[in-house]
Amino acid sequence: MASIDNCIKCGAKKGSKPFIGLLCIDCYTPKIEVPSSLSFEFCGKCNKVQQGRDWKNISWKELGDQFGRKIKGKDALDSYVDIEKSEAVVNLQTDQGKFPLKFPLRINKLKGLCDDCRKMSGGYFEAIIQLRGRPERVRRWKKELSEELVKYTFIAGIEDLKEGVDIKVGSSKQALSLIKDLGLSDYKISKKLWGLKQGKRVYRTTFALRFD
Ligand SMILES: [Zn+2]
Ligand SMILES: [Zn+2]
Repeated sequence: MASIDNCIKCGAKKGSKPFIGLLCIDCYTPKIEVPSSLSFEFCGKCNKVQQGRDWKNISWKELGDQFGRKIKGKDALDSYVDIEKSEAVVNLQTDQGKFPLKFPLRINKLKGLCDDCRKMSGGYFEAIIQLRGRPERVRRWKKELSEELVKYTFIAGIEDLKEGVDIKVGSSKQALSLIKDLGLSDYKISKKLWGLKQGKRVYRTTFALRFD
C-alpha cells in the first residue's frame, strides 16, 4: 500500500525534497509558460535599453525583473530573468514554501545606438545655455546644470570662455524645463535658424543666463 509519506510517482520520501501535494518537485509538471528566448536592444555607447519607442536608463537587473513579470502560469509565485546567466528563475509555491526553478533561456542582446547618442555622434544639438556674470556663480551653475542636464538629455560640449561658459545641450525643450525647475528666472531666449533636416527648418535656441 502506497504511503502518503511518499511521492506517488517515484516513491521519494516526504521531507527529502519539496512536495506539491502528492508529487515531489521532480515529478510535478509545473503549469508555467517560459519563453525559450528573448531579445532586447541596448545602446553600445551609454547602455540605455530600448523600451517601445523610448530608450531608458535601466539596469539589466531591472530589465530582468520586467521580463520576469511577463512569465505567467498558475504555479508561478514570482519570476525574474537573470540576464547575465541566461536563465529564468521561477519561484514555485510548494508545500514547504518557495522553491526556485531555473529555465535556460537564449537572450539576444542587440547592440544599437540610442537616439541621443546617434544625434551626438552627428554633432547635433538644439540649444546653448550661456552662463554669464560673476565667475564663482557661473562655475557653480555650470556644475549644477551639467549634472542635472544629463539626466534628461545629452551635453554635446562645454566651452569655458573668457566671458563665461557655454553648454551645448541636445534638447532645447529639456534645457528650458530644467532652467524653470531650478528657478532661474533671469534668462533671455533667442532662436537662430540652424539648418534644414529632412526639409524641416531646425532652430538652435540660446538661453542667456545672467548671474550678477
Ligand atoms: Zn517524485
Ligand atoms: Zn546611447
